[in-house]
This record gives sequence, C-alpha cells and structure tokens, in this order.
Amino acid sequence: MSHRRSALISGAGIAGPALAYWLNEYGWQVTVVEAAPGIRPGGQTVDLRGAGRTVIERMGLMPAARAACVEQKGIAWVDASGRHRSEMPVDAFGGDGIVSEVEILRGDLASLLYSAADDHVEYLFGTRITALDDSGDEVTVTLSDGTVRTVDLVFGADGPHSAVRRSVFGPEEDVVHPVGGYTAWFTAPSTSMDTHGWYEMFQAPGGLVASIRPDTDPTRMKASLAFASEPLMYDRNDIDAQRSLIAERFAGTGWHAPQLAEAARTAEDFYLDALVQVRMDSWTSGRVALVGDAGYCPCPLTGMGTSLALVGAYVLAGELAAADGDHRRAFARYEQVLRPYVEQGQQMPGGGMKMFAPKSAFVIRVGQMLNRAITSRVLQPLARKMFFSHAENIELPDYSTAPEQQMSEQLRSAR
Ligand SMILES: Cc1cc2nc3c(=O)[nH]c(=O)nc-3n(C[C@H](O)[C@H](O)[C@H](O)COP(=O)(O)OP(=O)(O)OC[C@H]3O[C@@H](n4cnc5c(N)ncnc54)[C@H](O)[C@@H]3O)c2cc1C
Repeated sequence: MSHRRSALISGAGIAGPALAYWLNEYGWQVTVVEAAPGIRPGGQTVDLRGAGRTVIERMGLMPAARAACVEQKGIAWVDASGRHRSEMPVDAFGGDGIVSEVEILRGDLASLLYSAADDHVEYLFGTRITALDDSGDEVTVTLSDGTVRTVDLVFGADGPHSAVRRSVFGPEEDVVHPVGGYTAWFTAPSTSMDTHGWYEMFQAPGGLVASIRPDTDPTRMKASLAFASEPLMYDRNDIDAQRSLIAERFAGTGWHAPQLAEAARTAEDFYLDALVQVRMDSWTSGRVALVGDAGYCPCPLTGMGTSLALVGAYVLAGELAAADGDHRRAFARYEQVLRPYVEQGQQMPGGGMKMFAPKSAFVIRVGQMLNRAITSRVLQPLARKMFFSHAENIELPDYSTAPEQQMSEQLRSAR
C-alpha cells in the first residue's frame, strides 16, 4: 500500500461510528464530522438482535452492551386506566419479539460505538460538509469550519435526511417515502408513572400513540408520542414549534398522554421526525457511499434501523478490506451482499401504520385481540417466522483474513 487510505464520514449516530471503527481496524485514516455538538443522547431503547448483535460481538462490545442493557419485561398495550389489555413478554418469539432480549438506550449505544475507536478516529463535532467534489481520483470536501480536506472516499451516515445523499444522489423527495405519521422521542420524569418494567403503549382513536418505557435511571422514563398524519409542512430547525405541535395533538388524550406532552415542552433531548422509509436503487456513486438510515432507513416501526446500520457498516468496511481498497469492486459487493437483507428489514410489520396508530376504537380492540392471539403458544412459531425473523436473514461474511486486515495488523504491531 503506497499511502494510508483515507475516509471522511458524515454523521456520528449509529452507522457512522460503527463504520469508523471497522475502517480504522483495516488501517484507514478516518475523520467523522457530526452536526451536533457531541454524540446525541436522545432516543428510546433500540434492539440488538440477529446479525446486528453479531456485529457488536465481533467488535468485542457485547459485555459493555449487556452492562448498559435496560431490563424490560416486554411490551403491553394499555387502556386509558393503565390496565394491560394485551402483553408480549420479552421471551416470546425466542427473545426476538417487539421488545428483544438485548435492549440498550440509543444514546448509550452511540456512545459505546464512539468510545470503541475515538483514540484513533478524528471526530469533529458541530461540523458538517458544505461542499463535495468527486474528481474520480479523490474527493475534495469543504467543511463548515472553513477547512478543506481531500480524501479517498466519503460516506454519508447522516440519517434519513442525509445532506451527502442530497448533494450526490439528488432530491430527498425521490427516495424518502412517508409512512403516514410522526413520532417524538424524549426523556420524561417518571413522577407518578410506573410501568413496573414494561414498555407500555396507549393507543387512542384518531391515530394517537403514547408510550413509556424504563430508563437506566429510575427517576426517568423514555417517552414517545406519535400520531398518524399526512405529510406536514414544518421547520425541522424550529424545536419549539415541534413541541407545540405535539402538545396540541395530545391535548385531552387519556392515560399519561397530557403529562407526557407537558414533559415534551422542556425535554432537552426532544426529537421529532416523520416516520419514513428510504428506498434507493443504488447506495453508491463514484467515490461516495451511503450507510444506515441515509441509504436504507427502514422506518422505526420495523425495529430494524439499528441492525441495518450496524450490518451495513460492517459489510461496507469489510468489502473495502477484502477488495484491498478497490472501491468499485467493494461498492458493487456491498450492494450485492446487503440488498436482500435491507429488503427484508424494510418489510413493515403486519398492518403497518394502520395497526400501529389506529384511527378507530374498533381497530384498537382488534389489534389487542390479534396481539393476544399471536403470543399464544399455538401461533407463536408461525408469527415468529412471519414478523420477527428478519434480523437473522443474512450470513455475515468473515473479513478477518482480508488483505487490509492483515496489513493493519502489521501496522498495529509496528506502532
Ligand atoms: C436523536 C435521535 C433519536 C432516535 N431515537 C430512536 C428511537 O427511539 N427508536 C428508533 O427506532 N430509532 C431512533 N432513531 C433512529 C435510529 O438511530 C436509526 O434508525 C438507526 O440507529 C440508524 O442509525 P444512523 O446512524 O443511520 O442514523 P441516525 O441515528 O439518525 O444518525 C445520523 C447522525 O447524523 C447526524 N447528522 C444529520 N445531518 C448531518 C449533517 N448534515 N452533517 C453531519 N451530521 C449530520 C445526526 O445528528 C445524527 O447524529 C433516533 C435517531 C436520532 C438522531
């Protein structure tokens, strides 16, 4: 290798730090730019299941992930008085149900991935790409701090509204498909709310869904307020307007919803976004590739966002190592190896938005009956096959003997 290969990654959520870790393992020089001032703390728990969990194991992070795990008994659908109308315990579907066996706060997972390689990877927080020029031989990138970098490859790991994707692949409207609703995630004080370890969900007619689940800190809850809606015009930078939007939608709703809407007004980690899927024919162009939600956001309702991001980062870096840095060959393999997994991961759970946020009391009752039926001993095996096995549907290649891996081991022992 004549020079150390270099990469610039936009976004330090889940996919960005995971990709940075693997590229660094293979001897690349990596810089990550993140628009936020630090690793973003927000979000509820995310699942570590199937191949996503295997990637975490191969990174050697499983003991830390298990230590940061949030204990949950399962998911329960409640009525306005808080009574459980149906339950899906965590051990249903072999630990791969809606609440999986290993659940970790999204912010904790992002911090873990960041700490796995932050000594060797350059992280620039509060920074974004403002211009990108792919000459065919290298990519020149201008950053918001005014500096200019020239690197071999650029990766967009900047979420469903990826700026890298917009600048290289075209307008957001062509590839971002609304699923029919919005969701806000935030932390709320647990005052007078005790779920006794359950992830509790309350559905109200009109397509309103409120939920709370345990935090690692018992004085707090992870909350979500979601609603069915046609696409809305709103300013994604105006957080106060988004807080008001949530408060208006949930005014007069039952259960803990008004209390949660009030907490949403001040929560520091408040985050609202449309429920969307990103579907693209290709995730690579020239010397630029997309990874995670930027290229194939499956929509949070699938529970597959984290697995796709982790597996995507692992395969992308692994194929670059296997191709000894030949990005054309590696990008083609990345698309080939990952696409079937992404297509399965993007399959929406039965009934999609209509069953997640039903419009009528009748459909809410039908949903509760269905939940009871599929968790029954007779139907569990069939339901597991139909709804909860996507995370396993990939044979993860082993890149440990790739040429770049061997090269980087020599490099490390020489350090
Ligand atoms: C605050 C937050 C809370 C979330 N909560 C949940 C949840 O509770 N449940 C769930 O299922 N999913 C949640 N998600 C989505 C989930 O993290 C992803 O679906 C999945 O983990 C894939 O991760 P990703 O790294 O591709 O995208 P993301 O996790 O969205 O990370 C993208 C990163 O890119 C950064 N970024 C965006 N634009 C730019 C730019 N122009 N330049 C530089 N950086 C940029 C963002 O600040 C973010 O850190 C949340 C995402 C965020 C950002």
